[in-house]
Parts: sequence; C-alpha cells; structure tokens
Amino acid sequence: MLFKCKNCGGNTVYSPERERMYCPHCESTDSEEKIEDNSLVQCVNCGAPLQLSEYTSACRCEHCGMYLIFDERVSTPYEPRLLLPFHVGREMAVKQLEKEFSNRLFAPADFMSAKSLEKMEGIYVPFWLYDYDVDYDFAGEGTRVRTWRSGDTEYTETSYYEVVRKMDADFERVPVDASYVMADGIMDLMEPYDYQELTDFAPKYMSGFVSERYNQQADELAVRAEGKIKDASENLMQASLSGYTSIRPYQKNLNLHKKNDCYALMPVWQYAYRYRDQTYLYHVNGQTGKVVGATPVSKEKVVAYGVSVFAMVTMICGLLVHMLEIL
Ligand SMILES: [Zn+2]
Ligand SMILES: [Zn+2]
Repeated sequence: MLFKCKNCGGNTVYSPERERMYCPHCESTDSEEKIEDNSLVQCVNCGAPLQLSEYTSACRCEHCGMYLIFDERVSTPYEPRLLLPFHVGREMAVKQLEKEFSNRLFAPADFMSAKSLEKMEGIYVPFWLYDYDVDYDFAGEGTRVRTWRSGDTEYTETSYYEVVRKMDADFERVPVDASYVMADGIMDLMEPYDYQELTDFAPKYMSGFVSERYNQQADELAVRAEGKIKDASENLMQASLSGYTSIRPYQKNLNLHKKNDCYALMPVWQYAYRYRDQTYLYHVNGQTGKVVGATPVSKEKVVAYGVSVFAMVTMICGLLVHMLEIL
C-alpha cells in the first residue's frame, strides 16, 4: 500500500514534528488516501521492479521515491500489536548527530555534509516485549566482623546471621530486537525507550520510513529476555545483601514465569557512512534523540543499560537470627 495526497498526488508521510500525516509537496495535513496494491515485485506507483529481502515490510522505491508498505508483512501473523511513533524527525536527528560528532571526530570532510546525511533512514525495528514474574528465594550465612584493641590484645568479634530474602519482582516490557541485521548491542544501547507512548499499530505510521517484519518468533528470543532478567534479579538481590562482611549462600532459587509477549515496532534513525571501503553506522533513538556511534560496546554495559528501567520489586526481608560470638 501507499499513502497519496488527495490534493496533489504527492506521497504523504507520518510527520514526527506534527504528529500527523503530512504532504511535503503541498504542505497539507491529514490529506492521505490509501492506495492498495500488494505486489512484492513492483512499485504501486511507478511500476519499477523492487528488490525486497524476505523480511522487508516497508521501503522507499528507488525509482520514484515513494514509501511503500507491504500489507501481507504487516497483517496477521505479522501484524504488530504496538508501535512507538517517531518523535524525533529527520532534521532533529541530524542536529543530534552534529552535536555529538562535529567537534570530536577526525572526520572526513563530507562526514556531516548535507549530501551524506540525505542517506539517513528512519527505521522501525521489530521487537518482542516480554512480561515476566520472578520469584527469588535466597538463604545464606552472613558475617559481620569488628576488630578492636585493648592493651596488648586485639579482639575480633564475628557476628553470624542467617540471611533470608524472598523477592517477588514483576518485569514489564523487557525488550529484545527481532531483526538479524540490527546489531543487538546497538539496540540495547538505544534504550531506554519511554513505553508510555506506545500506541496501537496502524500502517500509516510507517509511511516515510523503512521496516522489517520480525525475523524470529517470540519463543526463539525469550532466552535473551531471560538473560537480562536473571542479571537484573541478581543485581537486585545483591543490593539487598549489603552490610555484611561476607555472605555464603546455601540456597538460591530463582524462578522465571513468562506472563506475556507482545510484538512492537520501535523507531531508530540510521546513518550509514561509507569511507575507504568501510561502513560506519550511527544511530539516533527515534523517540528520545539519544545518539549511539558504532564504537565497540562492552557487553556488561549493555546489560546495565537494559535493566535499569523496567523492574518493579517488592522485597520481604526474612527474619534475622543473631548469634554473637566473641573470640
Ligand atoms: Zn499534497
Ligand atoms: Zn516507484
């Protein structure tokens, strides 16, 4: 399908600045008309042949420049439930990149030129969002050690505690990207997204952008969500165990129950810059404007970002048995 302007026949696109459909040719808003045609081999508008990957769900015709959306790749079973609309438009995304890079790169002359930046694309990346319920029972022996001197004698007091924790945490909308071509580290660094702005999916949001349907099923990718959740649960547990000199766990029981998964599209601007036979990728979060360059990414850091926003925890501190021993 394709959205055309009723007034001038131009291609209407979703405008992040106006938060509505917009015709860049005659500047009218909400003037779109949906043109249905579900060919995957040629452009509805000009008939030029299309070269689509197996996953492409929206693209720009290289011949006439119109944005095409492929119905069979955005309807059941590939229909997204939710979408986070672009909030940052092209101009703003360029500004963000300039702010980040214009002063601190040994950049080739055309790195931030208008002509190079024209190649920047707005992409809706397919994601699975997972909801999990987590129970974590922990029991261990904690010690606190105190030393002092009196005369010639040094005293050490070791207090032993039975430390019991029962944690019940709800993780909501833990994101995992479902696109092979989008590097996982990049998408993890794009976080956090503000999920309050998630809206019901409609194809018109995709006009003006490129997209893919999910490349992998929710069940195949759940293991990545579970990895993030386990790490986050362990961090929460460790944070609750502070104040002891040592902790020797004798029971750790972590259970994850998946409650729900949801297919959603998330907005990213991608600028691919080619220089001396290498492609350098830069990304701007299409909602928040956060910039991520293609620098090497530490796995630990990625996880730390990923888990910072979505945990809600209730913690019951178990009884403490205090045994005092003076040596
Ligand atoms: Zn128009
Ligand atoms: Zn065309």
